[in-house]
Amino acid sequence: AYTEDEKEYVAILAGFASVAIENARLYEIATLDIKTKLFNHGYFQNQLIEEIERAERYKTDLSLMMLDLDHFKKVNDTYGHVTGDDVLIEVAQSIKNQVRTCDIPARFGGEEFAIILPETDTSSSIIVAERLRKSIENLRFNVLDAHSDSDEHFSITISIGITSFVHSVNMTEDILIERADKALYHAKQNGRNLVVLFE
Ligand code: GH3
Ligand code: MG
Ligand code: MG
Repeated sequence: AYTEDEKEYVAILAGFASVAIENARLYEIATLDIKTKLFNHGYFQNQLIEEIERAERYKTDLSLMMLDLDHFKKVNDTYGHVTGDDVLIEVAQSIKNQVRTCDIPARFGGEEFAIILPETDTSSSIIVAERLRKSIENLRFNVLDAHSDSDEHFSITISIGITSFVHSVNMTEDILIERADKALYHAKQNGRNLVVLFE
């Protein structure tokens, strides 16, 4: 049995708690991509600016990775958009599982992802990228083949472009993104399922 005062006190506390829960929910909506639960584009841009400032100030390493699914349109065309979405979600989960907690994996847009790797130099980021590339290549997706009424499997590959922060150059977020994107373009041009470093 509680007194009226105690009940009032608990009601006030509950009010504060509900505000905190609601704020956390709003923060998640504002920062995460709904489909993949990776960070969204806006959050990625802000974090990249912050990480560049940090790298400049403390003279630390910083790398950026851009990832793009290979021939993803074919997956949609062959198996439908719902299966395409499942592939995106699973690839995103795979990315999340393999990066460190201080890394920032984001959905850049469509079937493109970006990962900010603070305190990470070129050679370390190549190791991370190769591990990611292989793990995605090894994922198997099941779909029901309507004609034969049996399970069908398919796999997918990813191309990755990497660039690292250079202290002698006046680096901006646009330059880093452009460099990683150029490296990614080369990975596509050279056969896909590749990791390419901007040089
Ligand atoms: P490439 O190897 O050159 O990257 O080929 P690609 O087919 O992956 O490239 P393209 O840019 O032609 O196609 C990207 C496709 O990704 C087309 C678009 O419909 C699909 N896509 C983008 N966002 C989503 C999504 O949220 N869900 C699904 N299912 N498909 C998406
Ligand atoms: Mg693309
Ligand atoms: Mg693609």
